Amino acid sequence: MKDYYKILGVNKNATEEEIKKAYRKLAHEHHPDKKGGSAEKFKEINEAYQVLSDKSKRDQYDRFGTAEPFSGFQGGHNPFGGGFEGNFYDIGDLGEIFDNFFEGLGVKPKRKTYRRGADLESTLEITLEDAFRGTEKKLTIETFVRCHLCNGSGAPADATFSNCSTCGGQGEIKEQSRTFFGSFYQVKTCTKCSGAGQIPNKICPTCSGSGRQRARKEISINIVPGIQENQIIKIKGAGEAGEKGSTEGDLYVRINIKSHPLFERVGDNLVFKKELNLIDVLLGKKIEIPTIQGGKINIEIPAQFNLKEDFKVKNEGMPRFDSYSRGDLLINFIIKTPKKITAKAKKILEELEKEL
Ligand SMILES: [Zn+2]
Ligand SMILES: [Zn+2]
Repeated sequence: MKDYYKILGVNKNATEEEIKKAYRKLAHEHHPDKKGGSAEKFKEINEAYQVLSDKSKRDQYDRFGTAEPFSGFQGGHNPFGGGFEGNFYDIGDLGEIFDNFFEGLGVKPKRKTYRRGADLESTLEITLEDAFRGTEKKLTIETFVRCHLCNGSGAPADATFSNCSTCGGQGEIKEQSRTFFGSFYQVKTCTKCSGAGQIPNKICPTCSGSGRQRARKEISINIVPGIQENQIIKIKGAGEAGEKGSTEGDLYVRINIKSHPLFERVGDNLVFKKELNLIDVLLGKKIEIPTIQGGKINIEIPAQFNLKEDFKVKNEGMPRFDSYSRGDLLINFIIKTPKKITAKAKKILEELEKEL
């Protein structure tokens, strides 16, 4: 494990200000464009600063000797290993200078200036039965789709291309700029050709060169059993088409579950309200209860049961989202007394009272 304190030349209880100061000084000294500068050293200094300047990362590093689990680095990796993401702290204009510096080295992927497709949001209404069983639903949305005529290129099939006159076909322009550290070359994406380097001699008549057009499209949404109200499903790439074939946006679908005529969902349980006649209760009659699957079950109320409590039928509720088990069916009794008691009935009940 690298000693970040040693790299920045500060001691373990250095203040934020001291760390920042040490970083600025070292970054200046070791900047690779400087005489005697070193890209290796410069990266190391940046890495140390990213950890020590962030309170939670620093605490983590102090305790466990690593800043990985809580790091803001892309994918939890060292930002300099593998794909470089330009994850710099912006102190003054330093961030931009570093960005441009790495871009100049070709470490950072070229900027694309085509507009990425926007993310879309939609709502899908399903029934409680759909949420119980899981299903596939079709959703139709009107949005930008890739142009059918030019397949997103923005130019018709018979177009010819020539090098962009502004960037000479490079797609980018080098610009010299003066900064605090001296002069640097900055690489900028060519605005005329948007980085493509090539310009077509004619543009697609359907999409006017944008590579996309408005249309309705149908998307399949997979509903998993046990899906919750307001759950959001992300469908990658199902959003708006990007300009000239660039990345599509994503689609976020919010699930709306219609209220059910018989059952109320409470978490993974289903609640069913059952009206009962007092006499039926006393006679211990079997009670028929519907299930979410469309079937029926018969229940018997046990002796001494408190009718104010829910009667629980195990595993007849909703599927649990992350497991194979199910919630319960809770029966909520509503007891009705008889409309009218005849003299004869009253007599029988009085007999009954003596029995009990
Ligand atoms: Zn087109
Ligand atoms: Zn150009």
